[in-house]
Amino acid sequence: MKKTLKMTALATLSAILLAGCSSQMNSQEQANMRLEQQAVLGLNWMQNSGEYQALAYQAYNMAKVAFEQAKVPKGKKKAVVVDLDETMLDNSPYAGWQVKNNKPFDSKDWTRWVEARQSRAIPGAVEFNNYVNAHNGKMFYVSNRKDSSEKAGTIDDMKRLGFKGVEESVFYLKKEKSPKAARFAEIEKQGYEIVLYIGDNLDDFGDAVYGKLNAERRDFVAKNQAKFGKTYIVLPNANYGGWEGGLKKDYFKGDTQSKIDARLEAIQAWDGK
Ligand SMILES: [Mg+2]
Repeated sequence: MKKTLKMTALATLSAILLAGCSSQMNSQEQANMRLEQQAVLGLNWMQNSGEYQALAYQAYNMAKVAFEQAKVPKGKKKAVVVDLDETMLDNSPYAGWQVKNNKPFDSKDWTRWVEARQSRAIPGAVEFNNYVNAHNGKMFYVSNRKDSSEKAGTIDDMKRLGFKGVEESVFYLKKEKSPKAARFAEIEKQGYEIVLYIGDNLDDFGDAVYGKLNAERRDFVAKNQAKFGKTYIVLPNANYGGWEGGLKKDYFKGDTQSKIDARLEAIQAWDGK
């Protein structure tokens, strides 16, 4: 009984403290907290579930088979193009920091995270990377990490994590534009045939649906369904991606509250009857 009373008192105290905290927040801070709290369950899934890890292994097991089966025309060299974030590198501690501090994405915070050199490896990524480089293939990293300020931290992290072949020349990071097809073409100009694209975002496979709404993005997937698991390998990412911007036109231009509204509006729901 005593214990129960103590626990009730503790729970009441923490509820009062929490309420006190949020009452001291201005409306922007409260909206930021609500937005970031929505990431909790997805992040729990990515950081803690065996299912997330199994999907990552499944993607890289499939990628290995596809790489082995891929043939390139005579005189061409075999290349695999991969995205980095949430494809090869796990940045979930940055997302965890956002949740615990009510911080919506901010590119300056992101650069600090990259500079901190604490990225983790996605399950199966290091082994696949090193397998390709050891079997007549070349890995190219086409990522929208910033070429000017985020390359050194990225390479240091990848070396520490055991990725082989991570010299500067195989990194195609973001210089000005985010769409990636121009960078894919640069790689091919050097005599490579890209046999496999790996990413957590449809924009890692080309520019066809860059900045488009989800209906069009789903259409692209339906039209290209035979390519998934063969030339396109997808990693799961429940935390962010082009799909989030695809919820509503100009989603990323909106304020925090408009993002919360767009997320709710996009939910398809049973009427309860
Ligand atoms: Mg990514």
